[in-house]
Amino acid sequence: MAEILAAEERRQAGSLELIASENFVSPAVLEALGSVLTNKYSEGRPGARFYGGNQHIDTLERLCERRALELFGLLPAGEGEEPQWGVNVQPYSGSPANFAVYTALLRPHDRIMGLDLPDGGHLSHGYATPKRRVSATSIYFESMPYRVDPQTGLIDYDDLERLALVFRPRLLIAGASAYPRDWDYGRMRRIADSCGAYLMADMAHISGLVAAGEAKSPFEHCDVVTSTTHKSLRGPRSGIIFYRSHLKDAIDNAVFPALQGGPHNNNIGALAVALKEANSEAFRNYAKAVKANAKALASSLLDYGYTLSSNGTDNHIVLWDLRPLNLTGSKLEKLLERMHVTANRNTIPGDRNAVAPRGLRLGTPALTTRGLREDDFRWIATLLDEAVQLACEIQGERQGMKLVDFVAAMDQEPYASQLEGMR
Ligand code: PLP
Repeated sequence: MAEILAAEERRQAGSLELIASENFVSPAVLEALGSVLTNKYSEGRPGARFYGGNQHIDTLERLCERRALELFGLLPAGEGEEPQWGVNVQPYSGSPANFAVYTALLRPHDRIMGLDLPDGGHLSHGYATPKRRVSATSIYFESMPYRVDPQTGLIDYDDLERLALVFRPRLLIAGASAYPRDWDYGRMRRIADSCGAYLMADMAHISGLVAAGEAKSPFEHCDVVTSTTHKSLRGPRSGIIFYRSHLKDAIDNAVFPALQGGPHNNNIGALAVALKEANSEAFRNYAKAVKANAKALASSLLDYGYTLSSNGTDNHIVLWDLRPLNLTGSKLEKLLERMHVTANRNTIPGDRNAVAPRGLRLGTPALTTRGLREDDFRWIATLLDEAVQLACEIQGERQGMKLVDFVAAMDQEPYASQLEGMR
């Protein structure tokens, strides 16, 4: 184990981390994660547990809840004022948080609408192919996705409205895993109202930006807001659900006892630390830099003549459309890995095959934490350009070249030495 840990630490320190959903937590967050909090069982809610010895865990969970509400401006303004929002910090991660919301608000086979996975949505928003209901969300509920306009890469709200009026979902979901633009929550609220649906935002990717005021806040318009806490928010791997106060019992009961057992108190402790860190000037400057860096990366790639989905970015994501290069995301991902640059292949709007996607998703949160700024990201664009040139050279005329053959070719001369030099 010691060897594995040391090797992973070296890999993280020695590579350029461009995966949009990853980040590097602070030593304080790591310390809480690896603390004695992991030893404790605390099924139930603060003050109402099914195990003894929870006096400190109760204090911890209440602290974490208060920090979460405070960070997103959801604490009541004055003494004695009724809270409009509550929060549950027990979900084990983002997907369980989303499923808890569905369990709370829906009955089996109720209808839901989320952004389609090939267009940037997340599995847990109801992904299904014509042949297979892939996500449990599409197994237990009836899912009809909405899409982005393949020409512009932007959510097609008119089409979403048209579909919603026909499909009449019980739940409409905003939020994505690979969408470089901000959301029109007001428009989605109106669409949800026109068909009697709840509106949920899954702000997993952008919650750090929302906290810092660098992305639109979904709270004004939504009934429920979920998030992971380990992406741009820079906390431990965990999940969180904010809900309008009248939904408290339904959400709390869905998390426990419907779906989960004991909360992971070490995660809740680490989250409490991260939420405090996020409520600081330093974090707000960080979030600004995340966006500025993504813009610098995007404009440099555009200057090189490459194609980006939606032609740029409003957030931390750059979604690179590799179709004009006849290159798949898998090949570029493998080649970058050899250069110690970590990114992930991703579908781009218009892709229907999630297994051989023709895009690459890049993100700036992790390297911004490591102190890289706009000039560094312009330099990264140069590196990415070199990588693409080499990938195209390896592939040559063989555009249908299998991934295994591409990888084998990378290991042969002259490419092996070239990659060695670029590492
Ligand atoms: N929601 C969105 C928008 C995501 O991007 C992700 C993860 O990538 C999740 C939910 C799921 O989070 P987890 O991997 O923690 O289950």
